[in-house]
Amino acid sequence: MVLWGDIELPGCDRPLTPVPPARRQALAAHLMKVMTEVPAPATKGPDWANTPQTSADVRAACGACRGHCCQKGGDDAYLDFESVGLAWGRFPHLRKEELVGAYLAAVPARSFVNSCIFHAEHGCNLPETMRSPVCGAYLCGPLPQLKISLAGKPPAVSGRQRARRPMVNRALT
Ligand code: SF4
Ligand code: SF4
Repeated sequence: MVLWGDIELPGCDRPLTPVPPARRQALAAHLMKVMTEVPAPATKGPDWANTPQTSADVRAACGACRGHCCQKGGDDAYLDFESVGLAWGRFPHLRKEELVGAYLAAVPARSFVNSCIFHAEHGCNLPETMRSPVCGAYLCGPLPQLKISLAGKPPAVSGRQRARRPMVNRALT
């Protein structure tokens, strides 16, 4: 648990560990399979050009929590054919292999044990433009309470706080 103002956030206390080659290989295999289901970049539809806009307050809270909800992201980070198609639509100049390469290049050297492969010490290591939409859409239970309690002011920082870049996205638990 992490106290953020008067709101309890679930927190992530898992240690960091080097990402082993097997996890990178699993991600690569998953993405190559997914890409076979994506015939072309998704350049139409409401989401293709935009990424979710996370408020500064939510970013700060998620930075304090350190991404509890990323812990079930596994080796695929919720990247299904729709997610990858949307990402490809933002970088249509890339070939499929290059897009997969960009995902692999975003894997951090170390991630939290038994968490999403992109879940690094500073937060999500994957650019927002490449994440699954669910990562940007999810809000855990306490966050709506946080929005109400803020009422235009940031909460007093308390609990386990350290300087760190914000965890900018989350995913389903
Ligand atoms: S949305 Fe996720 S990272 Fe943000 S506070 Fe909730 S559990 Fe933590
Ligand atoms: S926000 Fe990033 S670290 Fe969290 S589940 Fe999504 S891709 Fe993984």
